[in-house]
Amino acid sequence: PPVAIVCVGMAGSGKTTFMQRINAHLYQSHQQSPSTTAPPYVMNLDPAVRSVPFESNIDIRDSVNYKEVMKQYNLGPNGGILTSLNLFSTKIDQVMGILEKRCLPSKQPATEAKAPPSPTHILLDTPGQIEVFVWSASGTILLSSLASSFPTVIAYIIDTPRTTASTSTFMSNMLYAISILYKTRLPMILVFNKTDVKDESEAVEWMRDFESFQAALREEEAAMEERGGGGGGYMSSLLNSMSLVLEEFYNALSVVGVSSMTGDGVEGFFEAVEEKRQEFEREYQPELERKR
Ligand code: GDP
Ligand code: MG
Repeated sequence: PPVAIVCVGMAGSGKTTFMQRINAHLYQSHQQSPSTTAPPYVMNLDPAVRSVPFESNIDIRDSVNYKEVMKQYNLGPNGGILTSLNLFSTKIDQVMGILEKRCLPSKQPATEAKAPPSPTHILLDTPGQIEVFVWSASGTILLSSLASSFPTVIAYIIDTPRTTASTSTFMSNMLYAISILYKTRLPMILVFNKTDVKDESEAVEWMRDFESFQAALREEEAAMEERGGGGGGYMSSLLNSMSLVLEEFYNALSVVGVSSMTGDGVEGFFEAVEEKRQEFEREYQPELERKR
């Protein structure tokens, strides 16, 4: 079966641009050998996006009108997205039916001698407001339905230049990733995006070697003291202890650097996807089947 890649990340991290990039990459492979590889199957789950720069096979906007939902239920933007997702998730059986029919080779009519190849990848874009997707009942329903039919991998997209601007921003973003890892219980790839602006080496160093993170922390503190600010205190001792936890976390993840702008690092991303797909089948699938 194809592997499902779910793109999550803070607003502005580059989920949609990344989707466009990996979609284009898979299309290219398809065009190089159209008889053996199919293009990806693409889903947009962001009801509030104005225009999507890629063609999607299933688009939440085709079944729910976000603006109308806001008006009708008298909601703000976040409430509108949440309610749209809820409405969409009531049709999850239909959606899964379509996905299985289009993407599982066994579900295709066996009568034709040369059935067209089925997709190797299902790509999902999620709303900009990460918490709405990850912490809502409908987000959980969508993810668990997906994972019960397909090996499913989370791609956590990170705005590298913004996230490595300070140790505390970096740590809060990592904590968010950890919480999603525990909440979804799916294999995860950390995608350090925008490497054309700043590469991932510093971030990777901070994750892999807590001493380097602590050195950066000390540097920031010294700079803060020079400016006459307080700093230090509980914040730095918390960050210090967190960096030890991070090392553990790092070992559980695949980490890649990518530029969605230039396409740099995309090959490495797909290698990580293959690794995580195998991990899903080895470790996650038996667990899911046991629970059923
Ligand atoms: P989303 O909210 O996570 O879907 O983020 P978008 O894909 O809409 O991207 C947010 C902004 O980041 C846009 O202005 C993009 O052009 C920009 N962006 C995305 N990926 C890259 C990248 O790899 N390099 C650079 N320099 N900018 C990027
Ligand atoms: Mg987007």
